[in-house]
Amino acid sequence: MYLSKNEKDFLIAEITRELGAKRDGAGKNLIARCPYCGKEGKFGVYIGKETERKKLFMANCFSCGNSTSTLDQLLSAIKRPDLFVTNTIDLKASLEENLLFPLDSEDEIDDTLGIVELPDFYKRCFTHEYLKTRGFVYDDYEYFPVGSTGRLNFRFTNYVIFPVIDGGDIVGYVARHTWSKQEIDTHNRKAGQKGEYKIMRFRNSTENDFVKLLYNYDAIIEEETDTVILVEGIFDVVALTRKLELYDNTRIAIIATFGKKISQAQIYKLQTKGVETIVIGYDGDAVNAIKKTASELTPYFEVFIADIPYPNKDWEDLSYEEIYQIFSYGLKTPIEYKISKIQE
Ligand SMILES: [Zn+2]
Repeated sequence: MYLSKNEKDFLIAEITRELGAKRDGAGKNLIARCPYCGKEGKFGVYIGKETERKKLFMANCFSCGNSTSTLDQLLSAIKRPDLFVTNTIDLKASLEENLLFPLDSEDEIDDTLGIVELPDFYKRCFTHEYLKTRGFVYDDYEYFPVGSTGRLNFRFTNYVIFPVIDGGDIVGYVARHTWSKQEIDTHNRKAGQKGEYKIMRFRNSTENDFVKLLYNYDAIIEEETDTVILVEGIFDVVALTRKLELYDNTRIAIIATFGKKISQAQIYKLQTKGVETIVIGYDGDAVNAIKKTASELTPYFEVFIADIPYPNKDWEDLSYEEIYQIFSYGLKTPIEYKISKIQE
């Protein structure tokens, strides 16, 4: 369906008014009360540039999962058939799959999180032998709470524990054993032979699924933070914040997705805080994961990739100069990134 710019602007204005909607940070979506379930701020209407997957006026509720894929469906849903663009008949409209089949649960976004108790005898620390070996300085302990249970809690002896905080609440924790992977593997091999207990490198909380969590989420301040650098793990967040001295910078936040991928719930959490630009800072060897994440983020944000030219190095291993080079000269758009990776 062809719409002139005037028609498009008019429709956006009318839909905005009808739904009492506001634009998200990047201006690519209207965020409104859902016409199906009535939940405030959960209904998104896409008004950005059309892509293969995202069409103008596609709408989706992150709460109840109802969605519309054409303008006419949306106008029916919000009870404004008077706005129908009548000069063209969209033959596809009545055959859209999601009119025929109920949406599967994957389309629903549940971002509710329960509060999680830290392990018994958890005590915050401001210096730690293991963390010192990973470059931690005083500010790191101050900005990124971490602790241990000492020897009082057998399950967590020799672990450092990072609470995952969201809106001031503890919603999870990452507990990492302080031995190297090699030491743990050696121990476990012997322990296996002798029938003794094995050591887990991580012993994380299990109450909230980590696909719904972001590390350092509270560093994103609404109306202030416009750029988020996405990294894989907590140690990347701390290392990059330290090396770029971003502790008190409210414009940029470093956030970890707990792995090389992003979920719809995590995208939603970033979108609702008004983040406009996302720089993907996953490890250099994660080429396919980076491409996939970039295409998932593009409908909602301006996306760049911090292309780490060293496949085996992560942010902890890079010097300030190397990092500076990457952010000054190495930021690529998703298309530039794809092209550069084809050529290699
Ligand atoms: Zn809804």
